[in-house]
Amino acid sequence: MTDLGARVTDLFTRIGAPPPHAGAQQVRSPITGETIGRVDHDDADSVGARVQAAHHAFAAWRDTPAPVRGRLVYELGRLLREHQDALGELVSIEAGKIRSEGLGEVQEMIDICDLAVGLSRQLCGLTIASERPGHRMMEQWHPLGVVGVISAFNFPVAVWSWNAALALVCGNPVVWKPSENAVLTAMATHAIATQAARTAGAPEGLIALLLGGRDVGTALVDHPDVALISATGSTRMGREVAPRVAARFGRYLLELGGNNAAILAPSADLDLAVRGIVFSAAGTAGQRCTTLRRIIVHRSIAADLTDRLATAYGTLPIGSPLDEGTLVGPLINRRAYDGFVAALDAAREQGGQVVAGGQRVLQAEHPDAYYVQPTIVRMPGQTAVVQQETFAPILYVLEYDDFAEALALHNDVPQGLSSSVFTTDLREAEIFTSAAGSDCGIANVNIGPSGAEIGGAFGGEKDTGGGRESGSDAWKAYMRRATNTVNYSRDLPLAQGVEFG
Ligand code: NAD
Repeated sequence: MTDLGARVTDLFTRIGAPPPHAGAQQVRSPITGETIGRVDHDDADSVGARVQAAHHAFAAWRDTPAPVRGRLVYELGRLLREHQDALGELVSIEAGKIRSEGLGEVQEMIDICDLAVGLSRQLCGLTIASERPGHRMMEQWHPLGVVGVISAFNFPVAVWSWNAALALVCGNPVVWKPSENAVLTAMATHAIATQAARTAGAPEGLIALLLGGRDVGTALVDHPDVALISATGSTRMGREVAPRVAARFGRYLLELGGNNAAILAPSADLDLAVRGIVFSAAGTAGQRCTTLRRIIVHRSIAADLTDRLATAYGTLPIGSPLDEGTLVGPLINRRAYDGFVAALDAAREQGGQVVAGGQRVLQAEHPDAYYVQPTIVRMPGQTAVVQQETFAPILYVLEYDDFAEALALHNDVPQGLSSSVFTTDLREAEIFTSAAGSDCGIANVNIGPSGAEIGGAFGGEKDTGGGRESGSDAWKAYMRRATNTVNYSRDLPLAQGVEFG
């Protein structure tokens, strides 16, 4: 067994899950490319069996009072606190995130559990004034049914928890198909969740895991007993999933690709902006849905900003995410690296000039792993390559002369996830966050576009899919609304004054 494989065994043992070393499919770590586990994938039959068991569990879970359901999520949060170090390290080994981000990912799971436990006592409906005397109108929120969660490799466990913590307190079973590039963290998380479900006395089959790629995802998407598909991943995936779910009148919640920008106004605090930009653009090796991919900078400060960024990029430690001090880890696999190279070739053809980075590094030490330098490219305008999401650390720099032009450039991409403006001009800040400003689901002022808190609703518009997860009233996506009119009078007045007989 390889060194990292042995480490995985140790971490699984600490978590109390059987080590994943039997199965037909190899699991590799992006840190070295070495094999770290073996697993078996599911097939259409096992998808059907898991969904059926979850559907069966729904009847009992739906009738369990919501605050009692909250105890399961409380227990999940408690166990995640206990296993934060082990699970965080697994995230680093399997997804290539630096240690602090691996731990941060598990912290995000703990945070959403805290939010969901409180929510389990606050699933409030409205009481509405009725036009009829002796009548009361109200809304109730009822459990929806089986929630199918499809997740991406780059937030291998947090995305499941955003969905699962809310779906469970809302009264729904959860069947999860994680990314085929992040199965081990999913298996460890599933073991923790299963333990929490047992302690809470939840019905069998309430929480299920399916391993596999697109075929297994499709079987889940098409299953008539899955009430909601919550799918996180590329816009390509969303385009395939949405019509299939719609064809059977299921519900879907999509969290798809982003092409996030920051506007740098002449009044920006550049010291603060540079720190925010470097974290948002180079952190997680550019593999966050909210990664900063475009800077739209006022011409008067463009040279200064680009110089400062290039200097900062030159000092970023690239290497194993497990090493102390590393800030930039590997890309997930060869395909991601090919995408990085292709985007840089296209950028050069479209008039771009690479001003920092651009190279693969550590190739001699790790021929099967893909480490690249975070890269800055000055572009003559918003060309085709700038309008697409390349899931790698490439930051395009565009220049503008007036704020309206900056906003137009900002919104002129198909995606609409996250955005920010760096300015100390109150008017610009307010315009950016107004309806006439950023068209994204997230619009920040004087912080970068990445690194959201769970208290706010998370998601974006346009090709990002329109879904919202996490805080605010995102829980409503996991419930169905019933409007009730109760007549406590002895008459039967009809609405709109209609007389009948
Ligand atoms: P991906 O689209 O390749 O895969 C995502 C998931 O979808 C995987 O589990 C995959 O097996 C599954 N899948 C793919 N095609 C499917 C199909 N036709 N039917 C059913 N399931 C299918 O994405 P990825 O490479 O894992 O992740 C990177 C992408 O995810 C980026 O575009 C990123 O922006 C996006 N992302 C978005 C958010 C968000 O909240 N908006 C969060 C994380 C990642």
